[in-house]
Amino acid sequence: MRIILLGAPGAGKGTVAKLLTEFDGSVQISTGDILRSAVKEGTPLGKKAKEFMDRGDLVPDSLIMDIMEARLQEPDCRTGFILDGFPRTIPQAEALKSLLAKLSIQLDFVANLDVPRDVILDRLTTRRTCCNPACQAIYNVKSNPPKEDGTCTLCDHKVIQRDDETEEAINNRLETYNAKTAPLIGFYEKEGMLKNFLSLSSKDTVEEIKKALKG
Ligand code: ADP
Ligand code: ZN
Repeated sequence: MRIILLGAPGAGKGTVAKLLTEFDGSVQISTGDILRSAVKEGTPLGKKAKEFMDRGDLVPDSLIMDIMEARLQEPDCRTGFILDGFPRTIPQAEALKSLLAKLSIQLDFVANLDVPRDVILDRLTTRRTCCNPACQAIYNVKSNPPKEDGTCTLCDHKVIQRDDETEEAINNRLETYNAKTAPLIGFYEKEGMLKNFLSLSSKDTVEEIKKALKG
């Protein structure tokens, strides 16, 4: 499959993307994960991106497009890909359109995960993430807690709250989403690419996306 997942922070793009990779071997491409591991490794990209990310601001479009132009040409993308967290702005969507045309890649569709705002807020403040870059399992202190000693059930690393999951950074991320990313819904609607999924359960959404791919 070749799809884009759109949705506010906390809409469940990461969880849905991971489940979809198990379906047909398509790779999940999360710009957030790529940036977080660059920050952790202290690469030049990570150094540039860190201050934007910690505030909950977007990283400049030019940096993101450099990452994605290279990433989409790696051999594992030939089977298919699920874009999670990219594009995030109209300029990124325009640049992606030209890039895909250049690479002769056709998308199946853009899946917009529609989740009520109160559900989003609750999820973001209770979310915890495994600190192991190779794992990054997502937990929820209420509905899906880590082990009692605060470690990951999959890899035993510590489960932590991300720097951008403080209340201030969360509010900023939601404002940034409304101002910069929500306009992509209209953009892809005009392109005839948009499919909406009312998304309360990630598992149900995955099933609906699979159905839409077959149909
Ligand atoms: P979220 O849970 O907010 O969707 P992500 O893991 O997708 O988080 O991204 C974390 C941070 O990485 C964002 O707040 C932003 O600073 C940066 N980032 C990720 N993807 C992009 C992108 N496509 N364009 C600009 N910044 C991005
Ligand atoms: Zn883990």
